[in-house]
Amino acid sequence: MLHGTAVSEGIGLGRVMVLKEYALVHGTHRNADAAAEKTRLLQAVQQFCENTAQQVEMLKNTAGKEDAGILECQIEMAQDPALREEVGALIDSGRSAESALKEICDRYIGFFANSHDELTRLRGEDLRDMRQSLLCLLLGVEGTSPSQAPRGTVLVAHELTPSMMSGVDRDRIVAIVTEAGGRVSHASILARAMGVPTVCGVSGAIGRLREGSFIIVDGTRGDIIITPDQEMIEAYWLKRAEFIDEAKKMEHFRHRKTVSASGQNYQIFCNISMPSGSAGALNSGGEGVGLFRSEYLFMNRRQPPDEEEQTAAYIQTAQGAQGRPTVIRTIDVGGDKEIPSLPQEQEENPFLGLRGIRWCLKHQEIFMTQLRALLRAGVAENTDIRVMFPMVSTIEELREGRELLRKARAQLESQGIPCAPYLPVGAMVETPAAVFLADSLAVESDFLSVGTNDLTGYVMACDRGNSTVSEMYAVFQPAVLRALQFIASCGVKRGVPVSICGEAASDPRLIPLLMSFGIHSFSVSPGAVLGVRSVVSSWANPRADKLAREVLGMQTLEEVMEALERACRES
Ligand code: PEP
Ligand code: MG
Repeated sequence: MLHGTAVSEGIGLGRVMVLKEYALVHGTHRNADAAAEKTRLLQAVQQFCENTAQQVEMLKNTAGKEDAGILECQIEMAQDPALREEVGALIDSGRSAESALKEICDRYIGFFANSHDELTRLRGEDLRDMRQSLLCLLLGVEGTSPSQAPRGTVLVAHELTPSMMSGVDRDRIVAIVTEAGGRVSHASILARAMGVPTVCGVSGAIGRLREGSFIIVDGTRGDIIITPDQEMIEAYWLKRAEFIDEAKKMEHFRHRKTVSASGQNYQIFCNISMPSGSAGALNSGGEGVGLFRSEYLFMNRRQPPDEEEQTAAYIQTAQGAQGRPTVIRTIDVGGDKEIPSLPQEQEENPFLGLRGIRWCLKHQEIFMTQLRALLRAGVAENTDIRVMFPMVSTIEELREGRELLRKARAQLESQGIPCAPYLPVGAMVETPAAVFLADSLAVESDFLSVGTNDLTGYVMACDRGNSTVSEMYAVFQPAVLRALQFIASCGVKRGVPVSICGEAASDPRLIPLLMSFGIHSFSVSPGAVLGVRSVVSSWANPRADKLAREVLGMQTLEEVMEALERACRES
């Protein structure tokens, strides 16, 4: 048996097809005619853009609009004037289009790959994908594509790229195994969106999995069974059928209200990072957008979007949500989010540095542009925009943010530009300081939203991306649970709604506790909506309260986990 990171749930049984990456260009080929080489490059870029646009259309049908955007950004990269200029200069120095393109792309890929920031590393993945496709076009060789795979194929590759994923036909490909990549790599996001069971990070998979051999992939547990016997094969067909049945049962929750077993109402919103994601949020059964990570609008570009572009993006987001609540979080840069289009200093300890609202208050020109755009979008018809500040740790930050929003409104009014007379303002509770101030923050906010991803890290003093302390980084730690209970109680006391928007909001073990603490709104990734609704509907409030009382009295993580897992098995 092999084991890796479980990336996309489900079971796939089928025959192995290994996708090999070919080394396409060696050395520094020379050219005799720089102008002719540049024309070849231009033609390859044009062809690449046309091919990719077609792949985007295919992906829209199989994975969805938002995920197709992953490939769209490769078109922008290929057309980037700076990239073309750098490749052109190498061609002028006598190099062939292929070797010039490879050298420049490899330089950037290396730079991106060494970044601490996950998103920047993902950019490197996209760039490598684009480079491979362009080199194939320049050299006139067929790219490696899974589109020819027969039915019942398990794709095995060193690393899958987003463009390879566009060739994945759900009827032919039953599972995917890769040696590299992780849960948040782009190919993994696409695999989840398409519902293909996938396991990543399986070292040595290509050497161990024979072409044509029959294997089983368990995308829920991250297991790969290399030589299954008949008994095992039958057991896994059964497991697969059960998984598909479970998924079908969830459908029943798609167009329902979110109600606990004892009749209390809840709401489930979605976390999105692209304007087009809001329509997907509703399609997934979400009741609006609980967190739009607006900093994503500033990624993959050299200059930040201007006021017009941002206004259009926020209108698209809110109208895509069909006038349902749309919480737009202002730029959350810093920490693990490096955004090249925004000014950022190198910091010794970026997680304790200029992040979120702190950064916005230091870069008021950029912040004011965003606030003006939000206010302008707020008057568009069929929109319900709410503004949320990230990483708040003092009352002054909240007040200053609100003051700048007032100033932005006054500016627009004096310029005669239509804008919203009022937008609700919320604060994220992600730092221990915000927990202790939750009561005061509640008094001065229209809503609070708990970012458990960061809050867990800051309460436990554990870096959220550091695997050596990953066992300690747990939302179920008694200290974190008590913080959550306290924040919720402040909201209840002040009559201010508190929602949860970190990943933990979709953990079935945490949901009954959150319900008991007085949380009525969850914001989760679109794929998790139906699962959360189903869990909420399975808990009667008195039973959730009993569990919460028991758990809050516990002293250790182990005791908490044991109690919650037992309760989940019984529910
Ligand atoms: C969080 O910290 O829980 C959160 C939702 O914000 P992000 O993951 O974008 O830091
Ligand atoms: Mg956060």
